[in-house]
Amino acid sequence: MDRRHFLTLGATATGGALMPLRALAYPTPERMNEDQHFDAIIVGGSYAGLAAGMALGRALRRVLIVDSGLPCNRQTPFSHNFITQDGVPPHLIAAKARAQVERYPLVEFKRGLVTGASITDEGFDVRLEDGAGYRAKKLVFATGVRDVLPTLPGFAECWGISVLHCPYCHGYEVRDEATGVLGNGERGFELARLISNWTRDLTLFTNGPSTLTEAQAAQLRAHSIRIVETSVTELEQVKGQLQRILFTNGSAAAIHALYAMPAFEQHCTLPQELGCALTDEGYLKVDAQQRTSIPGIYACGDSTLRLRTVANAVATGTTAGMMLNKDLITGTF
Ligand SMILES: Cc1cc2nc3c(=O)[nH]c(=O)nc-3n(C[C@H](O)[C@H](O)[C@H](O)COP(=O)(O)OP(=O)(O)OC[C@H]3O[C@@H](n4cnc5c(N)ncnc54)[C@H](O)[C@@H]3O)c2cc1C
Repeated sequence: MDRRHFLTLGATATGGALMPLRALAYPTPERMNEDQHFDAIIVGGSYAGLAAGMALGRALRRVLIVDSGLPCNRQTPFSHNFITQDGVPPHLIAAKARAQVERYPLVEFKRGLVTGASITDEGFDVRLEDGAGYRAKKLVFATGVRDVLPTLPGFAECWGISVLHCPYCHGYEVRDEATGVLGNGERGFELARLISNWTRDLTLFTNGPSTLTEAQAAQLRAHSIRIVETSVTELEQVKGQLQRILFTNGSAAAIHALYAMPAFEQHCTLPQELGCALTDEGYLKVDAQQRTSIPGIYACGDSTLRLRTVANAVATGTTAGMMLNKDLITGTF
């Protein structure tokens, strides 16, 4: 690959659509002035990106954080299981974090979508959707993941409100309620087994013929977990609160909370296009210092993690910022 060739088709943060090739609209690197040179550019300014930004700002580094404003938890009313912020609306946690990072004068913010990035002899060039170009010695991707929600009517409306991804984040609030798990086979079994910790009124909805083993089905029944194989047609809801699950045979089940594990994809594919390796599960591969497989590129937060929580996003963001700073020091000292 020509190392100076800008990658312009990777960012999907506008909702999945590939951005048009805009190479001709970009300023050439020669047109960038000193104001556009940074120690680090952080792509993604939610919990992980802000944590990395704080570590770097406190390390006297000149940092640019670019964020397109689409964190994955934006529809959930309250965030839980992050100490000091339990039960706080997600956007308020992010706003408070941003206000604290803004106190560090060497950290700059830009609202926008990074649509291109390239490796140069000095580091990296990045391009924004609006055509602006910036340079940095190091790059951090804190771009998260995008949940690929099923087209089942009502699912998207309930996502994060009464259709839940994680019992540690939301299980306590719906404990002992009539609860469902939407899933089948090994994953459905494992999720139902986990959720049985929070309620005794639990049904596994396999949404079609069960692919559980006989032993799994027997184990679930032995723990009083019902198994319903009828296909689901709709999640009947009011303002995101699930009322009933409707089935193809005309029947319905009154369920208060439903757990599901939709597929996900990287919110931004630029790291892959720059050569960063993925794990078999689809996360960016990082070492214990949050370094990706490409020197100078770090990643943190959901894009690198299976245990998806604000606390883990913050922890890995902090690590990325600290290690990036250490690598800058050891590169010159
Ligand atoms: C419905 C739901 C509810 C949740 N509830 C909880 C909870 O109660 N408690 C809890 O601890 N965790 C919860 N989580 C998990 C938590 O939201 C995530 O772990 C956390 O948001 C991850 O932070 P992040 O910074 O890695 O990614 P995100 O918060 O997803 O942020 C990624 C950011 O990068 C930006 N971005 C992406 N690509 C680009 C680009 N090319 N250019 C510029 N910007 C870009 C996006 O716009 C976004 O702002 C929930 C998740 C979901 C989906």
